[in-house]
Amino acid sequence: MKANQKSLSVHGIGISNGKAAGTLKFFRRKGTDQSRIKTSMQTNDPAREHTRLEEAIKQAEVQIRTLYRRALETVGEEEAQIFEIHGMLLHDDDLLDAVKEELKGGKCAEEALDAGAQQVCAMLGALDDPYLSARAADIKDVVRQVSRCLSGETDDGMEREREPFILVADDLSPSETVMLEKSLILGFVTFRGTPNSHTAILARAMGIPDLVDTGEIDASCDGCYALLDAADSTLTVCPDSDQIAVFSEKQRKEDRIAREHDRYLRSLMNKPAVTRSGHRMLIYANIGDGSEVAGALSNGADGIGLLRSEFLYLECNDYPTEEHLFSAYRDIAERMQGKRTVIRTLDIGADKKITYFGLPEEENPALGFRAIRICLAREELFKTQLRAILRASAFGRLSLMLPMIVSVDEVRQSKRLLSESMDELRRENKAFDAEIELGIMVETPAAAIMCEELADEVDFFSVGTNDLTQYTLAADRQNPALCRLCDENQEPILRLIEHASEAIHRTGGWIGICGELAADLHLTQRFADMRIDELSVSVPYLLGVRGKVTECV
Ligand code: PEP
Ligand code: MG
Repeated sequence: MKANQKSLSVHGIGISNGKAAGTLKFFRRKGTDQSRIKTSMQTNDPAREHTRLEEAIKQAEVQIRTLYRRALETVGEEEAQIFEIHGMLLHDDDLLDAVKEELKGGKCAEEALDAGAQQVCAMLGALDDPYLSARAADIKDVVRQVSRCLSGETDDGMEREREPFILVADDLSPSETVMLEKSLILGFVTFRGTPNSHTAILARAMGIPDLVDTGEIDASCDGCYALLDAADSTLTVCPDSDQIAVFSEKQRKEDRIAREHDRYLRSLMNKPAVTRSGHRMLIYANIGDGSEVAGALSNGADGIGLLRSEFLYLECNDYPTEEHLFSAYRDIAERMQGKRTVIRTLDIGADKKITYFGLPEEENPALGFRAIRICLAREELFKTQLRAILRASAFGRLSLMLPMIVSVDEVRQSKRLLSESMDELRRENKAFDAEIELGIMVETPAAAIMCEELADEVDFFSVGTNDLTQYTLAADRQNPALCRLCDENQEPILRLIEHASEAIHRTGGWIGICGELAADLHLTQRFADMRIDELSVSVPYLLGVRGKVTECV
């Protein structure tokens, strides 16, 4: 605890129940230090700025070489190549010429770098070539690295940490969250954010206590000891000894109750989840990547109901190759030991942004160019993923699921690309499961209303209640001010699911739910009444949902 710091209580919305005690560490986003720019601009000495720039480029070169070596050791040569490209871009003539011109014009090194990079990226962007727009994203990455060297910043302040800490940020994007070293994170606190944001979903999946929408916390709290109680929706910064004693006592009690409850739930683990009136529900897991498979199996998952395949793309610096995707999917398929794994095809866009996709800025990204819309517009990108899934289907029980569907036509176009991918693989003598099941997500009111027609085209459905809620209630899932509106208006969503379930069952298909509402134990009975066939939830919720189904009538 910092000397003389007074105890402070901060409130927000608690996401995953749980408690954490530890040091607060404020997340610093990598970027140009504006105060440094101002100081430098005042010197107005082009020769000095030129030398600073040259030194920063040399430093960045050493850092990039280190990243290359680390990538080579951990992910292999193909993935490491991106850092080789970054190393070359540091000496790109177009970029350096543009920056030098700006320096001659009297700009400081940071500004010249920024302006030069913008010119080159604009030039590449205007060529309307996906390969070159990816290079523009690389140039931005490299320039960010040089900027950090100019400002004397070596990293985001997280890499030096060796002791676990509670991470505090204004907000975290999904790509920032997946890149964090999870073993060091005791809890998340974000000034903004909502329970349905992807960062909250990730925190839930990791079983890490999370407090969102706290409003800004003063930076002087960085490094302070704090108590995070997600169940009470409170963060206590610099607690006094009485507060610490109360917290530990509560923690001890909760741990004891949780242990007993866990023992009871584990006794049900390998039994089918059947209601007292005999309706069986499959309990599946939602995962982001292969690292969660072991947890899903050890918590009794009957299968994987949602693999958010875009997370693998978020972790890469460039488009993953078919081989890279195939090996990740094959690994999951094999480890699931014959249990079904539903791979949801790429759902990029809205809050899940990837720089190398070079997607346009949009006024309303959640209502814009995302998910299946991108895949159908960029057939090669989609087919790379479809081929990888098909090839992996020879090694386990895989199913394919399409996100954000609004029409039968989108499903038919996807099926055409799937069938083309199958034909290609046949010609190449590559094995795959020709009977692979195809499903769609019900995330839009359009899909829910059109289930009967859609059922003629696909084998199964899974309701994405996170997006279905935002599109039905016209309430942005990223906006904390609308959380209450969403909580108080579940009925329209439930009626849409009911309608979908009736239509799908009339045609002999099956329906699951994989949005966050699937884990809401207040709704399990209602879902059982609707004859929902499967509930897919984050790993920490698997046992609780299985237990609840057995208590339903
Ligand atoms: C959903 O929308 O409910 C869903 C499961 O997909 P995601 O949360 O990844 O958008
Ligand atoms: Mg969704």
